[in-house]
Amino acid sequence: MALIVQKFGGTSVADITRIKAVAETVKREQGAGNEVVVVLSAMAGVTDQLIGYVAEAGGRNNSPEYDAVVSTGEQVTAGLLALCLAGIGVPARSMMGWQIPIHTDDVHGKARIAKIDVDALRQCVVAGEVPVIPGFQGISAQGRITTLGRGGSDTSAVAVAAALGAERCDIYTDVDGVYTTDPRIVSAARKIDKITYEEMLEMASLGAKVLQTRAVELAMKSNQRLHVRSSYSDVPGTLVVDEDEIVEQEMVSGIAYSRDEAKITLVQVADKPGVAASIFGPLADAGINVDMIVQNVSADGRATDLTFTVTEADLERAVETVAAKKDVLEYADLVSDSNVVKISVIGVGMRSHAGVAQRMFETLAEKGINIQVISTSEIKVSVLINEEYTELALRALHTAYGLDAE
Ligand code: ASP
Ligand code: MG
Repeated sequence: MALIVQKFGGTSVADITRIKAVAETVKREQGAGNEVVVVLSAMAGVTDQLIGYVAEAGGRNNSPEYDAVVSTGEQVTAGLLALCLAGIGVPARSMMGWQIPIHTDDVHGKARIAKIDVDALRQCVVAGEVPVIPGFQGISAQGRITTLGRGGSDTSAVAVAAALGAERCDIYTDVDGVYTTDPRIVSAARKIDKITYEEMLEMASLGAKVLQTRAVELAMKSNQRLHVRSSYSDVPGTLVVDEDEIVEQEMVSGIAYSRDEAKITLVQVADKPGVAASIFGPLADAGINVDMIVQNVSADGRATDLTFTVTEADLERAVETVAAKKDVLEYADLVSDSNVVKISVIGVGMRSHAGVAQRMFETLAEKGINIQVISTSEIKVSVLINEEYTELALRALHTAYGLDAE
C-alpha cells in the first residue's frame, strides 16, 4: 500500500460540482489500494477577492490579519471536500494548518515552512480517514496563522508529501502536464513525459505557471516525485523526477519565455573598481532582483556601457535607485526599455552537448531577430529580444530544436 498526496488547484475546486468530482478522484485512488492525503487550494478567484477586502480595509499584505483573512479560502474548500467525501462513503476530516500543525516562520504573507508534525496526520490515516488539508497556510511560533505566498498550496502539498515520505505527490490542475513551450503560442508544443527538477525549476521561474517555484525547489531538495496532471481526465501528465530516472536525455527539453522583463542601460559609466558594487549593492538593498547583466570592455579604459534587467514591476524603483548614485557612477545617460522579452532554452542535456547556444543564435538570426543581451547557465541559454518577436522566436526555436509534435 502506497501513500499518495493529491493536490487540487483552484479551478479543480471552483464549485460544488467540481469538488464532488475531486471526491470521486480521491475515492478512486483509495479504491486502487492506496492511502490518500489531500491538499487543496481555495476556489478559483477567492484568494484575489479576499486580498481585495484586506486592501479595502487598509490592511497590509505582510500583516498577521492579512493572513487571517486570505487563509480562509482554503478552509472553506477543505471542509466542503471532507463533506463530499463523506457523502460518497469515504471517511474524511479537514485538518487546518494549526491543527496538524504546519509550523512556519513569522514572515506574514510569504512565510516558509519550518517543520510539519506528522503524528496527527498519520493517526488520521491509520484510522482510515482521509485528511483534507488546506494548502497555503501554517502557524507561526507566536501562534498566529501564516500564509506561504501566492501559489503556496503547491508548496504545502510537496512539504506534506516529503514529511510523510509519500510515494508520489500528484498535482491536479487545469492543464494536463508541462509542455515543451506555451501551447497557446506554439500549436506544435508537446506534453513532456518526464522532466528533471532542475529543468522544471527553470521553467517555473521563467513563467510556466504550472507549479510554484518554491514547491519545485522543495521537491528537488527532498527528492519528492511529482506528477503534474489534469483533474479533468485520466491521461498521464508530466513526472518531475531526479535526473537519474531519465534515460534518454533530450538536448533541449523546453523553451520558456518571460515578458515581465525590463532593461536598463547606463551609457558611458566610469570603468573603475567599485562601480558594479555601487550599482548592484543599492539595488539589492532595495530588494530589487537583477537578472541578466552585461558590461562591455571599454575601448579607452575610462568608460563603458553597462546593461542589466529587472522585472517590469521593479523598473521605476530601479531607475530611481541608480539615478540617486549618479555622482559616483558618472554615467552620461540612463536608458530603460520594458518592451523586451526573455526567451530561454532549457535542458540538462546541454551539459553534454555542444552547440546549443549556437543553434539558438543562428535560428534567431535567420528570422532577422536582434539579440540584445545573452546569459547562460549550465542548463540554460537566455536571450533578451524585442517583445514584438516573442511568437516568431518561440516557434522558430521550437522547430530548430526538434521539439515539434509530429
Ligand atoms: N489560494 C492561494 C493563491 O491563490 C494559494 C494557492 O492556490 O496555491 O495564491
Ligand atoms: Mg497554482
